[in-house]
Amino acid sequence: MKRFALAGNPNSGKTTLFNALTGATEYVGNWPGVTVERKIGTYKKLSEPVEIVDLPGIYSLSPYTPEEVIARNFIIDETPDAVINIVDATNLERNLYLTTQILEMKVPVVIALNVYDEVIKNGDEIDTDQLSKELGVPVVKISAIKETGLKELMETALAESIKGREARTIIDVKKINELIESLEDEFEVKGVSNPLFHAVKLAENDEIEVENHKDLIEIVEKVKDKLDDKTFGNDIEAIIADSRYKFISNKCSVCYKKSSNVEVTAGDHFDQRLTKSDKIDKVLTNKWAGIPIFLAILFVIFHITFSSNFLFFGKFIGFSEEAADATLGIFFTPDGINSPGVMLQTALIAFTDWLTELLHQLFEVMGAGSFITGLIVDGIFAGLFSILSFLPQILLLFLFFAILEDSGYMARVAFILDRIFRKFGLSGRAFMPMIMGFGCSVPAMINTRTLADDKERTATIRVIPFFSCGAKLPILVGVAGGIVTLLGWNGADGIVFGIYVFGMCMAIVAALLMRNTSMRGEVPPFIMELPAYHKPSFKALMIHLWDKTKHFVKKAFTVIIASTILIWLLSHLSFKFQYLEDEEITSSMLAYVGRGLLWLFTPLGFGYQANLDGWGFVFVVGAVSGLIAKENVITTFSTLATAINAVNSSIVIDEALGEEVAPVVAMIQATGIHVSGLLAYIAFNLLTIPCFAAVATAKAELPKGQIWKTILFWLGFSYLTAAAVYVCFEWWWTSFIVVALIVGGVFAIHYYNKRHPLDAPKVKEA
Ligand code: GDP
Ligand code: MG
Repeated sequence: MKRFALAGNPNSGKTTLFNALTGATEYVGNWPGVTVERKIGTYKKLSEPVEIVDLPGIYSLSPYTPEEVIARNFIIDETPDAVINIVDATNLERNLYLTTQILEMKVPVVIALNVYDEVIKNGDEIDTDQLSKELGVPVVKISAIKETGLKELMETALAESIKGREARTIIDVKKINELIESLEDEFEVKGVSNPLFHAVKLAENDEIEVENHKDLIEIVEKVKDKLDDKTFGNDIEAIIADSRYKFISNKCSVCYKKSSNVEVTAGDHFDQRLTKSDKIDKVLTNKWAGIPIFLAILFVIFHITFSSNFLFFGKFIGFSEEAADATLGIFFTPDGINSPGVMLQTALIAFTDWLTELLHQLFEVMGAGSFITGLIVDGIFAGLFSILSFLPQILLLFLFFAILEDSGYMARVAFILDRIFRKFGLSGRAFMPMIMGFGCSVPAMINTRTLADDKERTATIRVIPFFSCGAKLPILVGVAGGIVTLLGWNGADGIVFGIYVFGMCMAIVAALLMRNTSMRGEVPPFIMELPAYHKPSFKALMIHLWDKTKHFVKKAFTVIIASTILIWLLSHLSFKFQYLEDEEITSSMLAYVGRGLLWLFTPLGFGYQANLDGWGFVFVVGAVSGLIAKENVITTFSTLATAINAVNSSIVIDEALGEEVAPVVAMIQATGIHVSGLLAYIAFNLLTIPCFAAVATAKAELPKGQIWKTILFWLGFSYLTAAAVYVCFEWWWTSFIVVALIVGGVFAIHYYNKRHPLDAPKVKEA
């Protein structure tokens, strides 16, 4: 099978093109450095199927970053049948810099002139015939997003792969060309493939070439000594770069025709577009306003998703209980109007409640015993429904995150945060994988491959789970519901928002801690070019959501169902394997095992506390089941809810508040836990060992031997933080002690580090 590689700048649309060609649903994001692995797929619409490889985004073929090495080695060593060089047409000058280097390899090349839809929208035009003549390779206009020109692109690539192509350089400086020619001869004698490419790179003083061909350096040095360029002296690398840019601006940029038919260079065009983005950025990335704006945007998103007092209407309008009941509480409650997220959730719950009732009746008619009914209806279905009820809010939240990301705003947030992160020992680059952590820690941890520094990478992997993922959301919402009922304060959106922000703050604290103790080191520089703002594509958004749903359903029917069955059995069987009725839950195996761990969690507020009256084991069991998958925490609660509420049937929950999570909230209330204990419970679950999948990923991505330390770190950090949260909220005066301990610790670390300065950073040997 023929194999085509997609190569291009970061954010030029490679992954969008890859998805369109292969039908894959890989991650598309409007910021540089999202694709870190190469992805492989098949295009089937030609006479023969061809393999497509999506390479990481790169600006050049010099080995400055790991991505550049991956892409370069792929083209040299695995000799694809053609390289499809994807070029962002609205950014011609910068993108063609890489093109001039790819041309120096002996490989068929086709230019995919992407984002051409924008060019048309601006009323502009690009003379592709002229451009193709200058570059010596075919140029095809495409729009990866609108999926236009793709067939032509692939047909051209196939034709080129059959024709073959000789390497050629557009460098045009007499003395340098002579040098390259003589080096090329040497490489040919040595029998090295791609002699021209190696010759140019060696002349550019490329780290890898210099290392591999020490014998030829002499030739370069001789020429170098005699060079005396007006601007660049004898800096061959600079002279070559200058020659590439001259070629681009003199020969290529002129192919860009502005709508007024006046010829301008693409550079001018680029500047104009930047001014518009610049104006927006003046506000959004403002030194002072940037972060408050980010937080405000986040709050609005949480309000739309979680508030049952949408736009605070409850303050002005009163609704009667009867009216709310008549509409199943879907649209409003006596407290106010539901936000879209809550409406969807309530509607879904009304439906699953009806279904549960139906199942109960069905089992009764069939004459099923309480064991079977309990296991299937109260165990499996209650667990599945409880987690399913969060799907609308999870999807809504991800829709908003995807919009923020695809529009280019999240890249700005990384930029704003770089200023702060830097002080805490991380670069803004680390923020991209962290933001991905809001979705799921697994891809986020893989994405840390873009971080070159091992220590920064380890620290980042460890704090990624603090960015609350989709699976933790039900815990936050469920427990927030509990807090709302206990406090009688209608602010679930505020609580969930607060927990997200708390997670981010703890990530910064933990990073600061590590970068000053076990992970000391310099912060690598972070240079990021901000991508242009653009309207998010509907298709890309749908792909995000569909991916999320698929992942969710798959997990629900495997890991979660299995854990639910296990929990139900353990909670309804005694050690003698006798079936226990709901009311007897306290004699179950689960209760015994959970109670055995109570001492451990007493400092966190869900152990031997008198107010819990022995119910602390529910929270312990929930937290432990969450180590497999975080969804399990809430499914465990709802599986146990029927039983616990049967024991504590005397407690009547406030109907109006928290109706959407009623059984779980009722259970939380029935256990008698304090708000302080609930807050500590959230902190513990948020910061502790993430799920199985994330631990396995961390093991694969971390340097050897770091996984055990990392697990210890998660356990220790979450335990101490949760304990601090508990005591501070339970007895306000303990916060003075906690603060004093923290301040003391900070001083101790600072003093120690002063006495033990870091060794001067070693210079990397070339
Ligand atoms: P990669 O980093 O090269 O893989 O680029 P992505 O495929 O992740 O795309 C980067 C951004 O450019 C995304 O926001 C895409 O929606 C957008 N994009 C990609 N192709 C096109 C296109 O043909 N037209 C427009 N207008 N936007 C595009
Ligand atoms: Mg990509």
